[in-house]
Amino acid sequence: MKRERTDVDHMSKFFSAGDQDISRGLTTDVYFQRTEEILRTRGLLEVPTLVEFTVSSLPDQWPWAVLCGTEEMIRLFEGRDVDLYALPEGSLFTSRSQRGIKLPVARVEGGYGQFCSLETPALGFICYATGVATMSARCKLAANGRPVLSFGVRRMHPALAPVIDRSSFIGGCDGVSSLKGAELVGRPASGTMPHTLVIMMGDQREAFRAYGQVVDPSVPRVALTDTFFDEKVEALMAAEEMPGLQAVRLDTPGSRRGNMADIVREVRWELDLHGHPQVKVFVSGGLNERKVQELAAAGADGFGVGTAISNAPTVDFAMDIVERDGRAVAKRGKFGGRKYVFRCPDCLGYEVSLDLSSPPQCSCGQEMRWAEVKVLEKGRRLVPEENAETIREKVLRQLERVAL
Ligand SMILES: [Zn+2]
Repeated sequence: MKRERTDVDHMSKFFSAGDQDISRGLTTDVYFQRTEEILRTRGLLEVPTLVEFTVSSLPDQWPWAVLCGTEEMIRLFEGRDVDLYALPEGSLFTSRSQRGIKLPVARVEGGYGQFCSLETPALGFICYATGVATMSARCKLAANGRPVLSFGVRRMHPALAPVIDRSSFIGGCDGVSSLKGAELVGRPASGTMPHTLVIMMGDQREAFRAYGQVVDPSVPRVALTDTFFDEKVEALMAAEEMPGLQAVRLDTPGSRRGNMADIVREVRWELDLHGHPQVKVFVSGGLNERKVQELAAAGADGFGVGTAISNAPTVDFAMDIVERDGRAVAKRGKFGGRKYVFRCPDCLGYEVSLDLSSPPQCSCGQEMRWAEVKVLEKGRRLVPEENAETIREKVLRQLERVAL
């Protein structure tokens, strides 16, 4: 049997692809390699092509999503002889325009051979990161202004930790837990103490005291208060043993969660009753957007969300040819032709047009504006990268105008 070419010239220690593997197209689906080979024999590799990235519908009936992963997509195409247009990273978008046309979030133009082998990784970058960013944004909205921390890196392959943390931060999370992720977003890593510390120290009071004495004073004093005893008992112990206690974290195991909202109310009550109204109540463990909403209403002050964010549904973008050799074309189910994406500055609605010079009118009455940015010209970058903090600020401003 003939073996497919893989060009694997090194093995990494762990089962993850390196930057070079991805950039060279080694994580691509093999059928693109075969397509390349066939087109080469027929002299068709350099036929000018225009491709679009669209999604037919968003998962779980999400009304909008937060575009994320475009920075990595830009880096993937950089240096190839292509032009790349994209909505800015952090754009809230809908799968369809107001008329129901599938909305391109990015388009690439160039000889097809320039990017045939990059379709798989390009999709992987935006499908995963957009899902994570969107779920983070939904949890942030559900928290109704309270902080949400991204705690999900432990549920995914460690190679993904940086992209999980960056995407969740861009989506609106206030902090991330991994050291690499924190470095990438430019904020100190967020975290409290694990149950293992309490167990290793022998009892809660010892652990609370030691944390207060040993951990750098710049680190917020937050105690985990559900290791051995009831949450409200350990919360009071923490308030007594850890000077400057700012919050307790409840990570109550599932088997004990008869009614987590009531546990939050009780702990709040007990802290107030004993003169600790300034101590906040944080909750983590098995949270999702629905539970965050419920616990926020019960008085919880902050949330650590793990699996729901790192295992968010992927947004199933597809890359499709819409123009070949200057002529509009599309497979069944897709809208052919070069389109320009416009956005309403007021209600954030989208429309596509075949003509860049005549902006469509939004259903709200406003004139829309061209929303795409030309990022690459002949593979050369035209606009600088935005840092995660700036992108997150833009996301938070857009979230003020939408609902879950
Ligand atoms: Zn509008």
